[in-house]
Amino acid sequence: MARLIGVLGGGQLGRMLALAGYPLGLRFRFLDPASEAPAGELAGHVVGGYDDPEALDRFAVGLDVVTYEFENVPVAAARRLASRIPVYPPPAALEAAQDRLIEKRFFQRLGIPTPRFVPVDTRAELGAALDQIGLPAVLKTRRFGYDGKGQALLRERSDVERAWEVLGGVPLILEGFVPFERELSILAVRGRDGTMAFYPLVENQHREGILRRSLAPAPRWTPDLQAQAESYATRVLEALDYVGVLAIELFEVRSADRHHAPGDRLIANELAPRVHNSGHWTIEGAETSQFANHLRAVLGLPLGATAPLGYAAMVNLIGTLPDPATVLAVPGAYLHLYSKAPRPGRKLGHVTIRADDPRSLQERLEQLLSAAHIALPHP
Ligand code: AMP
Repeated sequence: MARLIGVLGGGQLGRMLALAGYPLGLRFRFLDPASEAPAGELAGHVVGGYDDPEALDRFAVGLDVVTYEFENVPVAAARRLASRIPVYPPPAALEAAQDRLIEKRFFQRLGIPTPRFVPVDTRAELGAALDQIGLPAVLKTRRFGYDGKGQALLRERSDVERAWEVLGGVPLILEGFVPFERELSILAVRGRDGTMAFYPLVENQHREGILRRSLAPAPRWTPDLQAQAESYATRVLEALDYVGVLAIELFEVRSADRHHAPGDRLIANELAPRVHNSGHWTIEGAETSQFANHLRAVLGLPLGATAPLGYAAMVNLIGTLPDPATVLAVPGAYLHLYSKAPRPGRKLGHVTIRADDPRSLQERLEQLLSAAHIALPHP
């Protein structure tokens, strides 16, 4: 009988997991409170809250394995399911990723450099934290932040009051602003037998906290940078006895950055215990996509090769959609639409462009941006 995978969350990541699973003969069921969830078009969809025991029970019937495409699922719900069905990645990974303070302490314990940070619960603690960290700094909610929501950049003292008004009242964390050269991410996958594989480092560009474009492999990739990122990922995967795809977002700094060991050029920003937006390029740009490898891992199947196929760029389609014909006219372009209603700041789809060399990739990327009227931030 075809294996039935339960996925907590029914967004675009879930949708792409299902698309990767059908060639393997897999079936899917999603749990998501939104009746219009993008994955619901493709597979069974239980509409219900993650903390609703009745919905969880209906979701769980007949599942062979449970995974998630969304990390803010209550840990208690994941544990409830794990008492009956294998749940991968382990619920402990959710715990580590859901709270920025726990996450940073976890990185620290593993010897992985992070921005300097101080927990902040009251206005008085914010004052003390600013004295310690200095400006510029970033104030963030510890929980439920995503795509730049729940955070404020503090450039000067006059920014502090407004940030406190907007964010205060829930547990916060103040981080030192990292003057990074660029942002990178590493995607790793670990199978049930402990086998690990890593995709090449990706360079990411964000605006307003939202990922805009990724380049894979990252320009100026070096074996040293890759080895450092793989070493961080290995520590995280092993500490959590992790199964599935994991992403770690990183800041690349000059080796002279005085807060860290001289050799450390990568500072961990956050981890995602799931497939990740900066891995979408792998669908057409790698031997095995992150989605296929996540499914292989959670099912205990052999992992697939992670080697890139040439060079890839991924551009998110945010807020509005271009005319599909203009995108598809660009050589090497692959369009992915998530079937979501347009709304400002919402990820509606993405385009991956592939080429055999970095120069033609750049040309094709420019062609896409101009045809689709997409403005990327200046690097
Ligand atoms: P996050 O939600 O923590 O991933 O933050 C979203 C984006 O804000 C990151 O990708 C960075 O571009 C920026 N950012 C977050 N934290 C910091 C920091 N401590 N220093 C500099 N930039 C940051």
